[in-house]
Amino acid sequence: MNEKIILSRALTTPRDGCGPLLQGSGENAFSLRQQVFEYVRAHGQAARADITTALGISPGSATTLTADLITSGFLREFEGRARETGRGRPKVGLEVVPNAAYVIGIKLAFNRHTAVLADFAGKVIADASFPSGDTRRPMAQLLQETQNLVDRLLKESGISPSDIKAMGIGMPGIIDHSTGTVAWSSLLEVRNEDLTAAFSERFGMPLLLDNDANMLTLAELWFGEGRAMSDFAVVTVESGVGMGLVLRNQLYRGAHGMGLELGHTKVQLDGALCQCGQRGCLEAYVADYALIREAATALGHSFDTSKNPEDVLATLFERAKSGHTAAETIFRRAGKYLSLGLSNVVQLFDPELIILSGERMQNDYFYAEEVLDTMEKLTLNEGRQSCRVAVNAWDDLVWARGASALALSSVTATLIDEMRAA
Ligand SMILES: [Zn+2]
Repeated sequence: MNEKIILSRALTTPRDGCGPLLQGSGENAFSLRQQVFEYVRAHGQAARADITTALGISPGSATTLTADLITSGFLREFEGRARETGRGRPKVGLEVVPNAAYVIGIKLAFNRHTAVLADFAGKVIADASFPSGDTRRPMAQLLQETQNLVDRLLKESGISPSDIKAMGIGMPGIIDHSTGTVAWSSLLEVRNEDLTAAFSERFGMPLLLDNDANMLTLAELWFGEGRAMSDFAVVTVESGVGMGLVLRNQLYRGAHGMGLELGHTKVQLDGALCQCGQRGCLEAYVADYALIREAATALGHSFDTSKNPEDVLATLFERAKSGHTAAETIFRRAGKYLSLGLSNVVQLFDPELIILSGERMQNDYFYAEEVLDTMEKLTLNEGRQSCRVAVNAWDDLVWARGASALALSSVTATLIDEMRAA
């Protein structure tokens, strides 16, 4: 039986460090200089002796590499006492210089856009959020909405635009991270749009674009439960069903940056119509619009589905909770399809943990015992440990923080590469 775990919504503070605690190896390995930097950022504060031991390098190399990083203005020394007790001999340690660079992370979404401005240590300096509506829009409008978020962040933080070194954006849809192209998004009227080019030109800084589920997965990898885990998956349910996967300490995107579209895996041949235009996709049975469609059919005239989707779903949930059988069946049926999707994830990737997230996790039907039990039953468990499933309470800033991690990791690699070239 799968043990139900509810994760806390608190994310780590910069003092505890941020970023993956396990670093990539082989062809995914950072340069040694960046490994030193990432070690310090991940641990918040670190002594040279800890770096020497953790990275298996000589004390001489640790001294040279940290000296370079200090001269370049990325790390600084501090003299403190042991953190736990505040007593003992003062110890010289290293920490990230927070104002060495700033980044912006944005989640563009249905109903509400959110954004954060973070420093080089990963600390959020300012956040912003605007209602966004629920219709597809032209590109120019999406650019303007992003501009409003950026303006608000700059005003609130007092940081100069020239100190922002990159922007990370997560949005729903089928997005090629490597080319920065949006093949399709429920937010945009157009298809196959080179969003990165348009945004970089408008804001005059590098833009990293990815789908929103990857942003949430990065947030778990940088600030949450996944920091010390090498293989885990995140599954989100809201206006669509998203998935992110970390394999061997790295976000996995597939050969064309379009992998892990769990929501569009087929669970029924010629089944219900999905918002992508195809039929039988998982999200056509689980996502918000699927629930609303079912409600319109099953509850008929007694149910007004013309209101804002959030309100419609809140009403549907209230009815289900108060014992309305048809309403309850809608959630339980969607939960069953979710079990099917989760079981496929376990069967394909054998993750250590699946984190369920997204706004719909407010509806406990999606992580009911029944869902976890069905998932177990559908999975071949011979000789395999059950995959743990955890639920992360919904907090919209987490996605934007994941987008800031995308920007931070890109900025770090660029700055440290430039150092090497110099
Ligand atoms: Zn689909």
